[in-house]
Amino acid sequence: MNLEEIIKNCKVCNGKGEILKEGHLVECECREKVKRYTFYNSMRLPLRFFEYELSFRKGQNLAIKKVIDNYINTLQENYENGLNVVMISKNIELRSAFLIHILKSLYSFSYTGAYTTLVELFVDKQFNNYLRQHFLMIDNFEVDVDITKFEYELLGLTRLLEYRYLNKLPVLISTSYTKNEFESVFKSTISKFIFTNCITLVMKE
Ligand SMILES: [Zn+2]
Repeated sequence: MNLEEIIKNCKVCNGKGEILKEGHLVECECREKVKRYTFYNSMRLPLRFFEYELSFRKGQNLAIKKVIDNYINTLQENYENGLNVVMISKNIELRSAFLIHILKSLYSFSYTGAYTTLVELFVDKQFNNYLRQHFLMIDNFEVDVDITKFEYELLGLTRLLEYRYLNKLPVLISTSYTKNEFESVFKSTISKFIFTNCITLVMKE
């Protein structure tokens, strides 16, 4: 997406980027949007999530809102403690919403972040890109193929998680696997690492 186009095509300010309000020229909302989108881009957040918002009306959606709000309300503390979280839910929207809403909230604070999925990590193999951001979200931490084929990738992933853990940089993970499923897929180090170092949140469907 060409971010400059947002201002150019803005119907509110006709592409000027500012509007007259009570006799003063003020920044149009399109400029704020460009700033926000630039930030989301820097976090590698997929475009489809830029304006995404989970509808928080009732049931589990409302329950997850409380979990998200709690995490954001104590964001600074969570960062300083290097608090890691694994969110377990069979509902793909709920578990992604947990990561995305927290990630987007970083815009209002002075934290950096990054979004990825396990598949993306395994395909790109760019583990070093995710070492130093203040917060790292790994969505859909699961594979539908034989994990033993990914020896190199698993090593890269383990190093990434260890580096962040040693430097107290929070990692938030979402998965549909129960703890047992997780352990049977990611035997050994990764599974042990995650369930020792992460707070586990389980959301029912
Ligand atoms: Zn505008």
